Amino acid sequence: MNNRLALLRESVEQRLDAIRDPSTGKGLFTSGRISGLEVRWDGKVSFTLEAPPEVAEHYVAVRDRADAEVRKIEGVRGVTAVLTAHGPKPQSAGGIGRVKHVIAVASAKGGVGKSTVAVNLACSFAALGHGTGLLDLDVYGPSAPTLLGTGERRPQMSREKVLDPLDAHGLKTMSIGYLVDPASPMIWRGAMATSAVRQMIDEVAWGELDVLVLDMPPGTGDVQVTLVQRVPLAGAIIVSTPQEMALADVRRGLAMFEKTRAPILGVIENMAYFETADGKRTHIFGEGGARRTAEAAGAPFLGEIPIDVALRESCDAGVPLVAAQPDHPVSRRILDMAQAALANVARLNKAAPRIQVK
Ligand code: ADP
Repeated sequence: MNNRLALLRESVEQRLDAIRDPSTGKGLFTSGRISGLEVRWDGKVSFTLEAPPEVAEHYVAVRDRADAEVRKIEGVRGVTAVLTAHGPKPQSAGGIGRVKHVIAVASAKGGVGKSTVAVNLACSFAALGHGTGLLDLDVYGPSAPTLLGTGERRPQMSREKVLDPLDAHGLKTMSIGYLVDPASPMIWRGAMATSAVRQMIDEVAWGELDVLVLDMPPGTGDVQVTLVQRVPLAGAIIVSTPQEMALADVRRGLAMFEKTRAPILGVIENMAYFETADGKRTHIFGEGGARRTAEAAGAPFLGEIPIDVALRESCDAGVPLVAAQPDHPVSRRILDMAQAALANVARLNKAAPRIQVK
């Protein structure tokens, strides 16, 4: 498993953007002419070229060129390029209306590694070939700037008065940490935090995404419940450590999402054990508790993540382990969990209507 697909997707986007849109004079991608881009495991690529209806015939040649250019990319095994002339659907410039699946990553308390897991899951979705965003909703203690190494970078305001998310490690990302000086104390309370959260959802140009991962603020209080009720969730992933105390927390987390009717895609046990070089495992915080709680509650268990030095170092270095070392055993585990979570999205949302905003 590696991030071959994410790289391939990037090459396709670049190649398409190198083709000039006759109407705007800019790249096809930048001009918003390409929609529904899909890059599959077997190297099959498909996308739609949206032509302005009044000059649609000029775009037949553009489509042929786009098809031919993408075919030249190493690793591409087939291209389906569809030309439409309906013109892009009217969309507001910001918001999550074109996000297929919003997945919340939650924990009942801080310090269990929720943000670490959220960021690495997001990188896993991207590595699996899905257009992915990460929205850090922990307005009191944002961690995306550190975990993604975005440092001093600041999002730009576009002409439509929406913020462009920052691109980092193949993800579109937004965090309150990008907007306020990290050195200034965060003294926001209720209303301010709520309006900041609303802005990061509605006034950010998320565009077309397959998955948007929400790194939730820790806890199961009113703030969290309000939040999960605002956003149409495809499901939630709960992160816990194995202690008995933490298990009561998992139960609270499960109960919170029950209120919102969002399916639980799975429970992840973080810091499950420590393994020495000779393969000896020590269950520092106890063994298998999260799995038992998940099973008792009828929620899927996605797996265990050990305490791992490389994982901690990658957090501090600002490069998620899954992005930096996709073949690391811990990365492989997280990639498998991401795949299982997505399978659960499909399975548990079968009867549900397609996500609609508001
Ligand atoms: P939370 O979002 O739950 O508050 P963080 O993701 O910020 O927690 O993680 C807290 C600290 O624990 C960070 O320093 C992170 O690097 C570290 N950490 C998280 N998971 C692991 C793990 N499995 N192994 C080693 N360190 C971890």
